[in-house]
Amino acid sequence: MFDDLLEANRRYQEQFHDAGVAGKAAKGLAVVTCIDSRIDPLAMLGLQRGDAKIIRNAGARVTPDALRSLVLATNLLGVQRVCVVQHTDCAMAGSTEDDFRARIGTLRGVDASGWEFLAMSDQLSTVREDLARIKACPLVPPEVVVGGFIFDVRTGALSPV
Ligand code: ZN
Repeated sequence: MFDDLLEANRRYQEQFHDAGVAGKAAKGLAVVTCIDSRIDPLAMLGLQRGDAKIIRNAGARVTPDALRSLVLATNLLGVQRVCVVQHTDCAMAGSTEDDFRARIGTLRGVDASGWEFLAMSDQLSTVREDLARIKACPLVPPEVVVGGFIFDVRTGALSPV
């Protein structure tokens, strides 16, 4: 099932030269972005391996677990700036919570009503709320700079929120 990936990794190892890259984020940056496969977080921001901490989940949301990573990254791993990058055409912004529960519950034949999929009715407001959640966290250093952006999956452009 994973043979293609292991074969690709053998080729990757042959040209792997990153053994000396530090575990701290060289550009002092963390990026929270969506799992959408059209997003290449490093290329999108002109970054390379070692430059940034990348945190991904469906919808690019500042969930408790994303916040856990940001607390560790900002206190212990050199992160001073955090970008939250949502994107156009995001499935999480195009459906409601009840839609996700009904569709997935039907697919699986189980009751999904207790699940929170974090559907968004207003993408820009959601980004602003998530930025505020980072700033309000007492374990995130107050000098950390946060910014919100929308990535356009058709043009590659990043727009500040
Ligand atoms: Zn998305």
